[in-house]
Amino acid sequence: MALKKDSICVQGGWVPKNGEPRVLPIYQSTTYLYETSEEMGKLFDLEKDGYFYSRLQNPTCDLVAKKICDLEGGVAAMLTSSGQAATMLAVTNICEAGDHVICASKVYGGTSNLLSVTLKRFGIETSLVDQELPAEELEKYFKLNTKAVFAETVSNPAGVVLDIDKFVSLAHAHGVPMICDNTFATPINCRPFEFGVDIVTHSTTKYMDGHATSVGGCIVDSGNFDWDAHAEKYPGLTTPDDSYHGIVYTKKFGKGAYITKATVQLMRDMGACQSPQNAFLTNLGLETLHLRVPRHCENALKVAKFLENHEKVAWVEYAGLESSKYYPLAQKYMPNGVCGVLCFGPKGGKEGAMRFTNALKMVSIVTHVADARSCVLHPASHTHRQLNEQQLLEAGVLPDLIRLSVGIEDVDDIIADLEQALAEV
Ligand SMILES: *Cc1c(COP(=O)(O)O)cnc(C)c1O
Repeated sequence: MALKKDSICVQGGWVPKNGEPRVLPIYQSTTYLYETSEEMGKLFDLEKDGYFYSRLQNPTCDLVAKKICDLEGGVAAMLTSSGQAATMLAVTNICEAGDHVICASKVYGGTSNLLSVTLKRFGIETSLVDQELPAEELEKYFKLNTKAVFAETVSNPAGVVLDIDKFVSLAHAHGVPMICDNTFATPINCRPFEFGVDIVTHSTTKYMDGHATSVGGCIVDSGNFDWDAHAEKYPGLTTPDDSYHGIVYTKKFGKGAYITKATVQLMRDMGACQSPQNAFLTNLGLETLHLRVPRHCENALKVAKFLENHEKVAWVEYAGLESSKYYPLAQKYMPNGVCGVLCFGPKGGKEGAMRFTNALKMVSIVTHVADARSCVLHPASHTHRQLNEQQLLEAGVLPDLIRLSVGIEDVDDIIADLEQALAEV
């Protein structure tokens, strides 16, 4: 029976049979037993599906991946140790030294760092592009060795909503997949595959866990990108893998090729796997995702309107506000809500921002977003302090920008705390 999103949140993934535990079990085991050598051998040849070592696959993790996969409407998914690991494996599964990636410049600081600093050392070049440029301008960044386009459906921290159609058309016109980080919108508000995106990544650390207990990530494949049609670009998927007696992923696994390769090759070799304990906690979070996300959005909209009308506030950016330049895109791609995170600048620049955050009582200063508790971060003095003024502007981070993650407390209490802190500015 095909379930709707809310039911998948509650019941997806683990579907017990007669007499089995009702709740997803934690398979706290590194290894799996087989009665014969031959059987185990078949797993190593990828001749049979099965578990043999939890670095590659673990049933608890796979069932949580399955839930996220179904929420996104994909064909296959893999959990990773963090959102960073999800980005890294999603890209390196199809890019190698000598290849090029196009990435929207307003992405999460960790993502731009990974791509433009660390992966550069591995020989993968990234062009960070201004995602607001018209298609004709963006077009110029594509090269013969471009292998992927990466962007966030809603960017962290600036809250920029992606023009998904524009990016998908460009990527597909150049025969490369569009990868979207859907962490902030979550599949509750936006399912990128419905708009032609090929691969989705998540930091499950945020709304999916929702309680700030577990760092984790996930990669989901739509199964729609035709790797064989662009075989010369993706030899890793379309030519024999010597480490598995020459199997060809697209031939043997069809629509499962991308995630199978990421699992049996990259997870095997890089080991960025999620622990079954964390997967269990993430699953508890997922069970209420469909209830929490709308409440986050409802509270955030009320807070945004309060800030917009406050004399001590210089500016507010929240794509749920009609005054936002991203409102039309939000209406198109996520009409039921954007996310619970908004940005604003209290009057008084960087100083004012610091005074404001120091005066907060219930809303706490933490390096986190998107959990049940309201919290703030001042990127210019926290997460983005390694960037210079120019880089800050390119990342959409103004010196006075405060990232406010609106939680699911009573919104009156949130607003009262902001009000008294603004009085100190
Ligand atoms: C937090 C975040 C990441 C990184 O995820 P971790 O789980 O912290 O490694 C990537 N993308 C976005 C949009 C994020 O918010």
